[in-house]
Amino acid sequence: MGPLLSAATEGAGPEPAQIAAGEIAERVKAAGVVGAGGAGFPSHVKLAAKAEVAIANGAECEPLVHVDQELMITRAADVVRGLRLVMQATGAVRGVLGVKRKYTRALAALRQALDGSRDITIHELGNFYPAGDEQVLVYDVLGRVVPEGGIPLNVGAVVHNIETLINIGRAVEGIPTTTKHITVAGDVPRPITVQVPVGVTIREVIGLAGGARTPDPVVLNGGAMMGSLVRDLDEPVTKTTKLLLVLPHDHYVSMLRRQSPAEFTRRAVSACDQCFMCTDYCPRHALGHAIEPHKLILLLGAGVPVTDPQLAAAFLCCECRTCNYACPVHLVPGNIAIHVKRELQKAGLKNPYHRQTEADPYRDLRRVPINRLIARLQLSQYDVPAPLTEVAHPFRRVALRLRQHSGVPAQPLVRVGDRVTEGDLVGEIPPGVLGARVHASLAGVVREVSDRVVIEAE
Ligand code: SF4
Ligand code: SF4
Repeated sequence: MGPLLSAATEGAGPEPAQIAAGEIAERVKAAGVVGAGGAGFPSHVKLAAKAEVAIANGAECEPLVHVDQELMITRAADVVRGLRLVMQATGAVRGVLGVKRKYTRALAALRQALDGSRDITIHELGNFYPAGDEQVLVYDVLGRVVPEGGIPLNVGAVVHNIETLINIGRAVEGIPTTTKHITVAGDVPRPITVQVPVGVTIREVIGLAGGARTPDPVVLNGGAMMGSLVRDLDEPVTKTTKLLLVLPHDHYVSMLRRQSPAEFTRRAVSACDQCFMCTDYCPRHALGHAIEPHKLILLLGAGVPVTDPQLAAAFLCCECRTCNYACPVHLVPGNIAIHVKRELQKAGLKNPYHRQTEADPYRDLRRVPINRLIARLQLSQYDVPAPLTEVAHPFRRVALRLRQHSGVPAQPLVRVGDRVTEGDLVGEIPPGVLGARVHASLAGVVREVSDRVVIEAE
């Protein structure tokens, strides 16, 4: 089996103007590019749609993550090139780089890369959480409210993450997505941002930062606000892993995030005084959407079952946990909203809310400054630089999940014992469904094919 896409072609591809619009989406599909900052939505699907404005999401608001800031500083020209490819593929007449005002080095690098060109502008954002939420970003940049349950395309916008834009540029040059940039932050000796092969273990990546400084650490994959608890440090990193936050076992955030749904619901039902602060600070509620976390607690407290349609506004939760920050008595209404949403999904219910809404006129007064959020989360001591650092790649084994994206898992194309080289296609999108290709991130022999493909170096 030969490589379908070769790393040797990097830098040799044509400039955006020379590529047909449809060809861009095809190459991005071939390269297995998915959204690098969130749920891993397959990027070729977004590129096949038509949009008026293409927005680069450089807000990077999750506390302690540095990936996009570092990439905007070091790879500004590639970010701009990726955004131009998105504009060309979608027919967008405008490009906007949405970047926080405080990221001064990134802004300087991007301005230099733009070199006075007018097709792309920079929109400076305030230092709030969650400025990087797609719908919040679209409203901040364009003043347009995405309807309930909708996507930015509903209001003419397409949004791509910074690393995704770089991967789109590489895909057009024939290079598949086989690496990931990740920040390791928290209780480690050397907070760091690194580029590693997809499929190496979380333990190995934390090792690049010197390993956990604390016995029995708690690791949040994605960070204190949006991240999920890592159950096994030998889990592989995927195309969407962005921040590994290492915390002491008894840290405030560790303890809150280890609570079971039964435990945090019981506490909320018994202690919530319906003060409304959580709903007041909810960024989706501030866009006029029907989500009201305090009401979910009220209904659960009244004995309404978690899968009852009366709780269906939880479908509109973007899982940012801003409402946890807002609660004066340290309850976790965001965890409750997320739990209810998952239970409704498991029960097969669908979101019934699809209104076009208007933003709350007081929205700007209810935004969460990042510095205050970091202090509230008791993370100030970990708020230090995590510079992008070249690391040797001593990795001998990768485990490539066949589903590391939205949609259905890729179908394996290899068998145990096959030899592969880096960039070989090992998982294909099944016909007619949403999915993304998977490529070998290491040369070696296939040792396992299950819901993942394990490759060991020879
Ligand atoms: S987590 Fe809380 S603040 Fe965020 S969208 Fe859901 S309900 Fe709103
Ligand atoms: S902020 Fe806390 S106490 Fe107030 S309504 Fe929300 S969950 Fe209840």
